[in-house]
Amino acid sequence: MREEEIYRKALEKWGVPHQMMVLCEEYGELIQAISKALRWGEEHPGHALPERMKDDIAHETADCYLMLGQMTTAFGISESELEHWHNAQISKLKGYLYKEDAR
Ligand SMILES: [Mg+2]
Repeated sequence: MREEEIYRKALEKWGVPHQMMVLCEEYGELIQAISKALRWGEEHPGHALPERMKDDIAHETADCYLMLGQMTTAFGISESELEHWHNAQISKLKGYLYKEDAR
């Protein structure tokens, strides 16, 4: 079963508004994991982040990815549209970085 089919099934089962709320919750969980990592780094300067904290960030990032897949399916955003916006944002980021290097 393709991922998009799974996303469609989830959207049919719980509805788009509900899944939009879940997306917000998952981003909240990612923000919390990143915030905890930042606080840990502040409290333990010079130490590598513990594996469990990296795992938390990876887990919550994957959850967000899953919800983004559902959102692109729900709103009919095509791969080519995503690629277009991704490329545009990468170019914008490159522009910022180039400016930074020029200082
Ligand atoms: Mg989560």
